[in-house]
Amino acid sequence: MFQDVSLSGHAMHRSVQRNISDEDIEFIIQNGDRLHRTGVIFCQLRERNIPDDTPGNHRGWKLVGTTVVLCKCGLYVVTLYREERAFHRDSRKAKYNLRPESTSCPCCGAYAS
Ligand SMILES: [Zn+2]
Repeated sequence: MFQDVSLSGHAMHRSVQRNISDEDIEFIIQNGDRLHRTGVIFCQLRERNIPDDTPGNHRGWKLVGTTVVLCKCGLYVVTLYREERAFHRDSRKAKYNLRPESTSCPCCGAYAS
């Protein structure tokens, strides 16, 4: 995968479910809005985040509304989801509750129990 970003088992499962490829995740991480919260970074792709020179048939347009949740180190995808309104709700939520299946970040060790 690009740079040194890796996916949790949960994120990998989700990406297969949602038919989101590594390239799609890369696109979201590179272009999406970033929101820092306790221990994680929410990265959501919005229509205005898509570069002007992106062709109309580019996959990126289909990814609008998709959120990638990164570890605070930015190198580990905790989970991802598609929900247009999630960003707004999340932005008011002080803390992100990790799912039990989340594993510790291989990059910075966050979430280790
Ligand atoms: Zn980390």
